Amino acid sequence: MIEAGENRELAKKFAVSSVPQTVVNGNIVAVSLQPEEAFVDAVMSGAPVEIKLPERTGEMVEKDMVVIGAGPAGLTAAIYAARSGMSTVVLDRANIGGQVAITPVVENYPGYTRIPGKTLTDMMAQQALEYSEIRQGEEVTDVKKNTDGTFDLTTTSSRYRARCIIIATGAEHTKLGVPGEKRFFGRGVSYCATCDGYFFKDDKKVIIVGGGSTAAIEALYLESIGVDITMVHRRSKLRAEQKLQESIKERNIPIIWDSVVEEIKGDELVRSVRLKNLKNGESKEMKVDGVFIAVGYDPVNGLAKKIGLELTDDGYIKVDEQHRTSVEGIYAAGDITGGIKQIVTAVGQGSVAAINAFEDNMKPYWKEGS
Ligand SMILES: Cc1cc2nc3c(=O)[nH]c(=O)nc-3n(C[C@H](O)[C@H](O)[C@H](O)COP(=O)(O)OP(=O)(O)OC[C@H]3O[C@@H](n4cnc5c(N)ncnc54)[C@H](O)[C@@H]3O)c2cc1C
Repeated sequence: MIEAGENRELAKKFAVSSVPQTVVNGNIVAVSLQPEEAFVDAVMSGAPVEIKLPERTGEMVEKDMVVIGAGPAGLTAAIYAARSGMSTVVLDRANIGGQVAITPVVENYPGYTRIPGKTLTDMMAQQALEYSEIRQGEEVTDVKKNTDGTFDLTTTSSRYRARCIIIATGAEHTKLGVPGEKRFFGRGVSYCATCDGYFFKDDKKVIIVGGGSTAAIEALYLESIGVDITMVHRRSKLRAEQKLQESIKERNIPIIWDSVVEEIKGDELVRSVRLKNLKNGESKEMKVDGVFIAVGYDPVNGLAKKIGLELTDDGYIKVDEQHRTSVEGIYAAGDITGGIKQIVTAVGQGSVAAINAFEDNMKPYWKEGS
């Protein structure tokens, strides 16, 4: 087991350029955080493994509340729902903590000047576990409403009946969808400068794709740690907020305008990109060691669509001030509702959704005269 930051040569030998990455006997057995059981299996067998899901029991578990997603919004919702007396379970298709669990350091969560994301979500999960069950590696694949107003949920390993549901499935980074992006993920392609930028310091040549505030912040961060960074933007003007644009200019970060990435190429690692100029249609090859992608977010809305929840034009779940969705008894919180995507907003929304779910459950607003 190597700590790649302290063992740069070994990291180089195994072509590691994202964190965390587990290599056993030369095989990459896990990229990013894994549920503990899957991780142990990978280390013991030394072979790549899929996340192992528990056997499907078919047994119906009855709960007052099912929370879908164990990120900050879902964990907070569980704390509030369960403390108000509702029997609660949180289900997550991957691991507990959502996006924060893969965030190296959080510096804007009140109460902590600087805290590793995983530590923060471990504490949230520990607190939620005082009151609620949490099951990881269990994806909710379908939700049906019964005539009595309860919901039947199907997951990859079980079935649940619930009086109400909070959806906190978050949002994911938008992919470019170009050849090489998937193949070189973790080998030069990254969606997180704060996580992986370290591997490219000492003047490695890197591009960041995007022109919004996130791309600008990530470019400034990479430049500050000594990465040779160039921005690639499809338009002729950045969309980032003014202050950030000024900083980009002050630091002389080069920008290739009106251009898109057509292909990411390499061998073990990324070696180059093919860029296309949208104005004159010309393509050119550029030698790079890394490609950071910051072109937006996609809401994780597959389940919401399947249920038939009303969505915004951008695909986020529409909620009112109480965080009720268009289906009575279903609430949504966190990144999946759009707007500001931060831990504090996610936890705030999780609490609002849970408190309203409890109150509605006591006094259903949809029943006449209640
Ligand atoms: C690299 C990075 C750094 C960041 N840094 C900061 C920071 O410093 N400060 C800050 O405030 N914010 C930061 N953010 C943003 C913050 O992480 C998010 O706003 C926050 O995690 C949103 O919480 P959430 O609970 O809504 O969703 P998420 O954290 O995305 O959690 C959603 C969960 O739902 C699960 N899920 C999805 N679909 C299903 C399904 N069908 N069944 C079961 N489970 C499902 C997923 O596996 C996931 O665990 C950062 C984000 C990233 C990516």
